[in-house]
Amino acid sequence: MEIQDLERLPADRLVEWAVRTHKQRFAVVTSFQAEGMVILDMAVKADPNVRIITVDTGRLPEETYAVIDQVRERYQIAVEIVFPDTAETERMTALHGVNLFRREPVFRRLCCQIRKVRPLDRALQTVDSWATGLRREQSPDRAGTRPAEQSHGRLKLNPLADWTSEQVERYTAEHGLPRHPLAAQGYASIGCAPCTRAIQLGDPERSGRWWWEEGMSKECGIHVTPDGKMKRALDVLLGDILSN
Ligand code: SF4
Repeated sequence: MEIQDLERLPADRLVEWAVRTHKQRFAVVTSFQAEGMVILDMAVKADPNVRIITVDTGRLPEETYAVIDQVRERYQIAVEIVFPDTAETERMTALHGVNLFRREPVFRRLCCQIRKVRPLDRALQTVDSWATGLRREQSPDRAGTRPAEQSHGRLKLNPLADWTSEQVERYTAEHGLPRHPLAAQGYASIGCAPCTRAIQLGDPERSGRWWWEEGMSKECGIHVTPDGKMKRALDVLLGDILSN
């Protein structure tokens, strides 16, 4: 099916198409937030053996591990947990410290590259298509999210691209999906423990991520890649780590 035809499918049919078409070469990539749970639920209903991939950056909150276990038990599925490369992480922390993300935006992006983006890129080598829970409403950076697109060299599906948060909540409630424990504590978007905090009602959804970086993109680099000056500075730092 062509991308423009895929984009017209409702979320559950798009997920079902990917599961049936690519089988074990398809995976749901999730950090177990509400949107990811919706995709996961749709995918497991299409195939109980569907692949679920998550990245354990080594800095996740305890609550995320709890919800991973909850998902494994509820759906009786294996969750593929991908870890950062040990040598790369050791080199990064030796050169720049374990909490380098507090220094400057480029060091935060470096940490995200080593702990999130590169591990996921390795995992994606094993799939032809992958699905995420991205929604356009989540942030200005995501406003252009399409239901189907090419990304990381393969077909990326964002079946909830045009869903509202109310639709996600409705699906979650109607299907009794597991909820990330931090959501009830005001965390509208959940990543690594040191880089995520609760927000106030009415704040932008992703404002609790890297909150000390004012006016910067609230992205780790998986869905929106840095460009221009930031990319050049990041490439230099990455080069230092990867050349050793
Ligand atoms: S979210 Fe923070 S701790 Fe996690 S990978 Fe990015 S910078 Fe590092």
